[in-house]
Amino acid sequence: MKKKLSNDAVMYCVKTPKQEQALGRVSKGVKCSVSGCSRKAVRSLSNARVKSAGLNVSDDERRAYLCKEHYKEYKKKTKKEKMVERWRYKG
Ligand SMILES: [Zn+2]
Repeated sequence: MKKKLSNDAVMYCVKTPKQEQALGRVSKGVKCSVSGCSRKAVRSLSNARVKSAGLNVSDDERRAYLCKEHYKEYKKKTKKEKMVERWRYKG
């Protein structure tokens, strides 16, 4: 009795689902970190920096997310601080 070898080629098609790459949480609709604000964040900055600008952000996260308005405020405040420093040097 002869056995015939049959080559059954089984093709496995392994499909790996493409994982969505997080290119940054800001683009995914993160909310502003300032307490009481629920607008969409447009910028992420270090928490310490935002705090030093006088904005009320929570301690929980290392990064603070700011909406358009609060980012404006942040910029304004840091500008002011710089000016104050300049004045101090002058006086
Ligand atoms: Zn905000």
